[in-house]
Amino acid sequence: MECIFCRIAAGQIGSDKVYEDDDIFAFRDITPKAPVHVLIIPKRHYASILETGEDDKIVCGMIAAASRIAGELGVDKDGFRIVVNTGRNGGQSVDHLHLHLLGGRAMGWPPG
Ligand code: 5GP
Ligand code: ZN
Repeated sequence: MECIFCRIAAGQIGSDKVYEDDDIFAFRDITPKAPVHVLIIPKRHYASILETGEDDKIVCGMIAAASRIAGELGVDKDGFRIVVNTGRNGGQSVDHLHLHLLGGRAMGWPPG
């Protein structure tokens, strides 16, 4: 298995896990850009949001998980951001679909 996030979801590479169910895995970003920075990924490999096709259930599940995790980690009151970098212009660096959950500080807008 080549994909680093597939390997993390399978437990072959260690991570700071915050949530797991049959379809979804969530873990802290190794280079956090905010006090709370969690990556939420589908266990099934999709290279990006463009590849989920008919499987919109997984996208809903990931967003719902991000929202629950935000509550569990205490950033729901002050707010947070969910980001899906996609492709070259979007700044995607790992080709396995992931949501960034960012919180614990004020975010700038527009993003860089
Ligand atoms: P992207 O730039 O594709 O939107 O986000 C990829 C994220 O994955 C980056 O924020 C990067 O820090 C994180 N990342 C890359 N490799 C690893 C790893 O091995 N473990 C963890 N926990 N995060 C990683
Ligand atoms: Zn993968």
